[in-house]
Amino acid sequence: MSQNQLSERYEVNDELNMRTLRILEAMLPELNDALRTHFRILFTRSEFEHWGGLCQLNNGPTRFTTGLENIITIKKSEYDALDEEGKNALVCHELYHIMRSDDDKPKLRKHQYLGGIDFCELPQHDGFSHRLALKVMGKL
Ligand SMILES: [Zn+2]
Repeated sequence: MSQNQLSERYEVNDELNMRTLRILEAMLPELNDALRTHFRILFTRSEFEHWGGLCQLNNGPTRFTTGLENIITIKKSEYDALDEEGKNALVCHELYHIMRSDDDKPKLRKHQYLGGIDFCELPQHDGFSHRLALKVMGKL
């Protein structure tokens, strides 16, 4: 892909970065691993990606050259259609995917539906990320 195609597809965005920072500054224990991980978050305009966002492990040469352990892409069209609470829930959801192994290596947390945790890929069932968003906003 050419540099032009990449800049049409991806966007580093101040508003998204500030929102992510505000969420991390809330110091929710659930996002402790994200706080200790070197990651970037950016928008994608690709229609072929996963629903609202995707959290990926960054391994191999780009990990070596950039030091980034995780990369989160957020689908801009879907993000733009959400209200504040929905945007926060989507970012919280992707941040919660970031976890560290016992020997402090980056891992991806899977969706879970057990033990009172409803961390779900379907936004309408994702009560867990929604509660994190409400905590960030001081409503819980
Ligand atoms: Zn997910």
